[in-house]
Amino acid sequence: MLTVRSLIAAILLGGLLFPPALAAYRPKAVASFSILADLVRHVGGDQIELSMLVGPDSDTHVFEPKPESARALAAADIVFVNGLGFEGWFDRLMEASGYAGKIVTLNPTGIKGADPHAWQDVANVVTYVNTIAEELCKVDAEDCTRFQNNAASYITELKALDGEIKATLEKIPADKRKIITSHDAFGYFAQAYGVSILAPEGISTESEASARDVAHLIRQIRSSGAKALFVENISDPRLIEQIARETGVKVGGTLYTDALSSADGPAATYVDMMRHNATTMAKALGG
Ligand code: ZN
Repeated sequence: MLTVRSLIAAILLGGLLFPPALAAYRPKAVASFSILADLVRHVGGDQIELSMLVGPDSDTHVFEPKPESARALAAADIVFVNGLGFEGWFDRLMEASGYAGKIVTLNPTGIKGADPHAWQDVANVVTYVNTIAEELCKVDAEDCTRFQNNAASYITELKALDGEIKATLEKIPADKRKIITSHDAFGYFAQAYGVSILAPEGISTESEASARDVAHLIRQIRSSGAKALFVENISDPRLIEQIARETGVKVGGTLYTDALSSADGPAATYVDMMRHNATTMAKALGG
């Protein structure tokens, strides 16, 4: 008969005879927002456990960390942030979580002023991806070759995307490539792909556009002949809709600036997001 004692003995013996297989180490990585999470996922693949703090369609500029944000950070082996003031809440969250591990700031200071939106130029994202691979190799040397190979094939895809965006926008005459969005997230995009952008809000959504800013923008739109207004997935569309009414310029669709769409949306990955933005702009401008 099986007594409790013999059962315990059997369990202990079983544990000795059949030790649990040593699971491969999977570092826990945290990315501050959805676009970075997609880049980290492309490099880390199944070799890492990934979570993000600010999810799809959400505004990182004004994010308010939740208890689960602190828990994710506390459990992390490595954390990826964009930097340049994009995650203004991060230092306080780090203190609250007690996280004292590695923080990788992907946007190297000095890419361009204090504008944090460097991912809007695909060439910068190639740099991000190389840094992600280097840093994952430091926390998980065993899977380093895998990370490097993942990064290399993703970079091939990114370079093709860069060429595709240029080709899409080149079809629009240079003097017609003028668009209006609500916050100034396209500085790098404008420079890389030859588009000029007007925006009533600054490089952060934290400060709302004043009535004076909006009036100034409406005059600018009238004098510049900008032909397309866009709402953003992270911003309240009402300001852009008001400008559309007052200028008669039509809303050309939704652009994804600081966050991906949900998985079933048109910008579920970084590559899809950039392609969607370029084709939406081109379509609205008559390309
Ligand atoms: Zn932004």
